Amino acid sequence: SLKAGIVGLPNVGKSTLFNAVVENGKAQAANFPFCTIEPNVGIVAVPDPRLSILSQLSKSHRVVPASIEFVDIAGLVKGASQGECGKSLFPSISLWCYLCFENVQGLGNKFLSHIREVDSILQVVRCFEDNDIVHVNGKIDPKSDIDVINLELIFSDLDQIEKRLEKLRKGKAKDAQSKLKEETERSALEKIQKLLMDGKPARSVPLTDFEKDSIRHLCLLTMKPIIYVANVAETDLSEPSSNPHVREVLRLASELQSGLVSISAQVESELTELPLEERIEYLKSLGVSESGLGNLIRETYDLLGLRTYFTSGEKETKAWTILAGMTAPQAAGVIHSDFEKGFIRAETVSYDDFVAAGSLAAAREKGLLRSEGKEYVVQEGDVMLFRFNV
Ligand code: GDP
Repeated sequence: SLKAGIVGLPNVGKSTLFNAVVENGKAQAANFPFCTIEPNVGIVAVPDPRLSILSQLSKSHRVVPASIEFVDIAGLVKGASQGECGKSLFPSISLWCYLCFENVQGLGNKFLSHIREVDSILQVVRCFEDNDIVHVNGKIDPKSDIDVINLELIFSDLDQIEKRLEKLRKGKAKDAQSKLKEETERSALEKIQKLLMDGKPARSVPLTDFEKDSIRHLCLLTMKPIIYVANVAETDLSEPSSNPHVREVLRLASELQSGLVSISAQVESELTELPLEERIEYLKSLGVSESGLGNLIRETYDLLGLRTYFTSGEKETKAWTILAGMTAPQAAGVIHSDFEKGFIRAETVSYDDFVAAGSLAAAREKGLLRSEGKEYVVQEGDVMLFRFNV
């Protein structure tokens, strides 16, 4: 499933948020067949009210929602860093170790290599005031928090691009096609390099699809979408923009072509301790209608251009996550690579038509079930049945 890595400076609320995610995952695991959860990975189901309606209509034995994995990147590095950075002001926080410039060769790389593996980055930014909780810079300053992490990512990308350009300049390509490919990559990297030097992320560089493909193998860190998670006090939840720090994060997020979600890590953590019935009441008392995690998941979906399609039968009703623009065989490949290889056709009905008809069989009778071929671009909410050769 999709991976989102949690990063941020010390004491901003990362662990609090991550633990809330894990507790949430544990509670859901009672209802959904999730596999075991690793210590630094929390799995949450993507809430989708369409699932229960489809499963009722299909009389499904079980429901399997789509899921997102939250990876606690600081936690991952923490173990590796123990004892490595004696000079760190905050020995438990590896990012800080990386920034203290002593004894940390390789540690920073480890931190960055974990970021390389995720699909999107969630940076928790502290926007709550609390004199008892030390801020590494002595005051709440979202811009500096965001700059610190961005600079790390930019430096890493610049380093990688320089090395790659050096190789490309030697020009080892033999035939015309490889030459063209190398040329495309070189010009794309030079464009990116220029903007990175101005402190802008690689994702802000307009590139053609061909150029994008040519640099994909580098997995540049600043190409990954970032969502800023403004961690606010519970009193700010009903109107986060009344908090000037949140307004600052919002301004930076749009400048950096990134998303923003306001959340109270504290509230998320408290919610996991309440029985379901009391959660709604508690949220209401704070002036909000739902938990921030739902919002965070939706924002991640939007930012990554993700879509959902369903399979629904007596055995199970299941949500599948695909990228916008995927064709029917590609979507089938998300279930199993054999489905993509042997793809013949996809019997398809929109969610609304399925619900109106009441079942797949009824949809077929009414002529609402379409037989789609290899070129079909799967639409949000399609209910699909794949025909394939094994
Ligand atoms: P991390 O270092 O980023 O993982 O930060 P933690 O999650 O450990 O949080 C640092 C401290 O801030 C802890 O004492 C938390 O209880 C506290 N904290 C986290 N979120 C909030 C919040 O929204 N409001 C307040 N007042 N405290 C918080």
